[in-house]
Amino acid sequence: MNDTDVLVIGAGPSGLTLAASLVSKGITTTVVDRQAAGANTSRAAVVNARTLEVLDGLDVSRRLVKEGVQAPRFTIRDGRRVLIPVDFSALPTEYPYSLMVPQATTERLLLDRLTELGGTVIRPKTLTSLAQDADGVTATFDDGDTIRARYVVGADGMHSTVREQAGIGFEGGAYEESFTLADVRLRGEAPVDEVILFWAKAGLTVVAPLPGDIFRIVAPVPEAPEEPSAEFIQQLLDERGFGAGRMVVTDIIWGSRFRIHHRVADTYRAGRLLLAGDAAHVHSPAGGQGMNLGIQDGVALADALAAVLGGAPDSVLDDYSAARRPIAQGVVEMTDRLTRLATLPRAARSFRNAVFGVAGRVPAVQRALALRLSGLVNR
Ligand SMILES: Cc1cc2nc3c(=O)[nH]c(=O)nc-3n(C[C@H](O)[C@H](O)[C@H](O)COP(=O)(O)OP(=O)(O)OC[C@H]3O[C@@H](n4cnc5c(N)ncnc54)[C@H](O)[C@@H]3O)c2cc1C
Repeated sequence: MNDTDVLVIGAGPSGLTLAASLVSKGITTTVVDRQAAGANTSRAAVVNARTLEVLDGLDVSRRLVKEGVQAPRFTIRDGRRVLIPVDFSALPTEYPYSLMVPQATTERLLLDRLTELGGTVIRPKTLTSLAQDADGVTATFDDGDTIRARYVVGADGMHSTVREQAGIGFEGGAYEESFTLADVRLRGEAPVDEVILFWAKAGLTVVAPLPGDIFRIVAPVPEAPEEPSAEFIQQLLDERGFGAGRMVVTDIIWGSRFRIHHRVADTYRAGRLLLAGDAAHVHSPAGGQGMNLGIQDGVALADALAAVLGGAPDSVLDDYSAARRPIAQGVVEMTDRLTRLATLPRAARSFRNAVFGVAGRVPAVQRALALRLSGLVNR
């Protein structure tokens, strides 16, 4: 006898989206997370158009839009020079912009919706092992409890226990450099309606607006400090941004460091075990895609599970894996290219700037990039 139809491990953005979608379809769902409370560190800052489209059905998009700021432009620059301008405002969507909102807000709104629909998250509760049989899966937790479910989804992040227990490989590698991340207040030239990816000699740097006159700075550096100081971020912006003194850090609100991997799971399904989000794919934050992919996985997997639980053949779950995995591979390749193109040697940089300076003016190139960054290419 199963306790629940679907057991979701992990209440990050992917798990919360999946759970809310399942509950909204009337499917018995249990969600657990090993943390006592939702994380308030803010990693993802960009919610793209496709994510807003898929969250529309859950009635979450209008709440997100209320709390975020809209950035209809994305540019790749070398200093002040725009190499590739990307304009989202002409895209065929109700959401022709990147919505800039801290990940903690996105998670709060998803949790609110899950709760409204009658769902809940059991925490702290840590999955330790899984055993599948013909009728279901037995999940065992660190407190000795067990839960029986027809299907278990690993939305448990990069170090996924579900992926490990399923014996699914996670091919790829790690970037050598660590990434520094800071939320700051700026005086000077930083635009409030544009996300900028600077390709600088010392490495790429992202400057993105957030609500409350805050800017998010993300940059790979050889040894990121545990907590970056205002001086450290100022030096980064002077070296990699518009030029010395053009963006001035007046206040540092929060900062951290991360190591980033680029990996994709060999498959998203092993029998009754499924993967979604960072458990299935991780990559460079350049392009702001990770959380977006995870949320979109969540909605797609909820549809597939609802179909199978409603009597469709269980090959629908293989279709989920077959459809979503190549999308993640494409994103890993794109973000890897954006990351590596930033750090070419000087001679190659002038060549790169010449090539992209020309290609970046071609409307078809701009539109192709707009469709990929907005996620609309995966409709
Ligand atoms: C520096 C940085 C910047 C980023 N910027 C962006 C951006 O701008 N846009 C974007 O889209 N993405 C961005 N990302 C990526 C984004 O943060 C992740 O893709 C996103 O958090 C993945 O969500 P998730 O729900 O799949 O996994 P997670 O957020 O990792 O959540 C997994 C959850 O599972 C729980 N868990 C883990 N193991 C267990 C267990 N054994 N038992 C129970 N619970 C468990 C954890 O406690 C956690 O709550 C960025 C990432 C980094 C590091």
